[in-house]
Amino acid sequence: MKVLVINCGSSSVKWQVVESDSGKRLAEGKAERIGSDGRTHEDALKEILEEAKTHAPEAVGHRVVHGGEAFHAASVIDDEVLGAIEACVPLAPLHNPVNLAGIHAARALLPDVPHVAVFDTAFHSRMPRRSRMYAIDTELAKEKGIRRFGFHGTSHKFVAGLAADYLKTPVQDLRIITLHLGNGASACAVELGSSSETSMGMTPLEGLVMGTRSGDVDPGVVLKLARELGIDEAERVLNRESGLKGLSGIGNDLRDLQAKAEEGHDGARLALTVFAHQVRKYIGAYAAVMGGVDAVVLTGGIGENSAPMRRRILQRLEFLGVRMDEDANQGAKVTDDDPVRDISEPGARVKTLVIATNEELEIARQTQEIASGAKKIAQKKPIPIAVSARHIHLTREALDALYGEGYELTPYKPLSQPGQFACEEKLTIIGPRNKIEGVRILGPLRPGCQVEISRTDEFFLGVDAPVRHSGKTKGSAPITLEGPKGTLKLEEGLICAWRHIHMTPADAEAYGVKDKEYVEVAVKGGPRDLIFGDVLVRVKDSYALEMHIDTDEANAAELGRMSEGDIVDAEVYVTPNDAEAVIREKS
Ligand code: AMP
Repeated sequence: MKVLVINCGSSSVKWQVVESDSGKRLAEGKAERIGSDGRTHEDALKEILEEAKTHAPEAVGHRVVHGGEAFHAASVIDDEVLGAIEACVPLAPLHNPVNLAGIHAARALLPDVPHVAVFDTAFHSRMPRRSRMYAIDTELAKEKGIRRFGFHGTSHKFVAGLAADYLKTPVQDLRIITLHLGNGASACAVELGSSSETSMGMTPLEGLVMGTRSGDVDPGVVLKLARELGIDEAERVLNRESGLKGLSGIGNDLRDLQAKAEEGHDGARLALTVFAHQVRKYIGAYAAVMGGVDAVVLTGGIGENSAPMRRRILQRLEFLGVRMDEDANQGAKVTDDDPVRDISEPGARVKTLVIATNEELEIARQTQEIASGAKKIAQKKPIPIAVSARHIHLTREALDALYGEGYELTPYKPLSQPGQFACEEKLTIIGPRNKIEGVRILGPLRPGCQVEISRTDEFFLGVDAPVRHSGKTKGSAPITLEGPKGTLKLEEGLICAWRHIHMTPADAEAYGVKDKEYVEVAVKGGPRDLIFGDVLVRVKDSYALEMHIDTDEANAAELGRMSEGDIVDAEVYVTPNDAEAVIREKS
């Protein structure tokens, strides 16, 4: 699809016509001097469209800086969406109004093609609460709309995707630190395929040292400047006179600072040192936040082009597994056509990649997805809930020990997940305090034994079973099983099952969730509404849409008395991940 990508700034409009499938750039340009001599965005867009129209764009993708809480993804622009972007103006007073001006002008001039808004904030919109909340009074924060939003999302998403392609691993299985280092700079912890933490905050002023923005400072510094210089001047100083410019006393262009530093300029040296230090600090922090890191990606004008700055940043990170090959670093040149360079030492545990970002292409791709209807969010259907009573999975050897050599299980009834069945056979499970008789075996046989009980069972048995994903029994609790032909003591295998939803890729698409993501599920409409947090999403072609909870969880939501296999259609919706306990276990 040919997409016209429009990026409206306060005094300029950058544009490209991109062939979104091939990534080919068909035309590009920049209209400047908007605001001077009464020249408006509409005037500029008229000129742009004259030229762009010769390429017959089939859709228009607009970069919109702030999507607030309303947008988790790109969206076709209609009046409702315009209203929601308008509502975000107070959050981005410099950016959203000009983005809107561009949208209005372009829609009037190109009324017959779909227009799509792609938000800088959307990629971060599923950040967990622990990352997006500032530690101030929650009521006040809510009233004033104070929270972390994050920016540069289009770039972080694009380079994380390219890193995953390069590593031939699904992005959901990687922990990536993306560093967008340009005149504006931000770091992002990309986990489970989306942003779990990012350095820019409610505004693009927080975080890394930037060209002219300060990045992190003690909030006391802001107060002092505001008190002594006045609010407007403090704002100007922090946004326009700080960062590399403020530290060096020279300017914000890294190339100049590198040249001056070589000549021995103190301010330039200081600026480079503080910049690199701050980036390295965030790498360490994000590795800690994600419990490890698989790849570090550098992008943006500085990340892509400055080998000396990359070296400064990446030194002394060997303890994390980040080992850079200096020759590869010096030789790394990236382009849109050849966007990825691996600068890690061979065998380094963490891959260090230089990647050319291409926000226009990402905007074009998202625009195509939305405009072509390919990603139309399907009507959300209720999720059937299956309540799992306590049950047992056995290995061949365990069945032999409990029922005699070569014994075959007798299917009693099929379960909803294809190929699974409840058996006639039942066992007694014996804990230190009590035993429970008549616990059903589920087939077919598996490579590992697993006994799933509820918390209530656990107290009764007198054991301490961890909450685990199915199959993750290493280090779980011991339990004894008693069958007609013998007793079997399992050293591990007793768990409380982690609540989860099975779904097909189509269901996942409809709900806007991904495999291994954690979501909240609200059970509504019953006598005891309940929101389940930390629900693991498991996506596979062979799955049937179904949420699995145990009897305690079902009782808490008053989902009736059920035995294994029974299904209740509850009114359920899935909300963005708010899970606090992101446990990185592969299911
Ligand atoms: P961006 O905002 O992504 O365009 O990045 C702009 C920043 O990248 C400026 O600080 C430039 O000085 C820096 N930059 C661009 N090219 C180079 C280069 N070859 N070496 C060092 N810094 C560069």
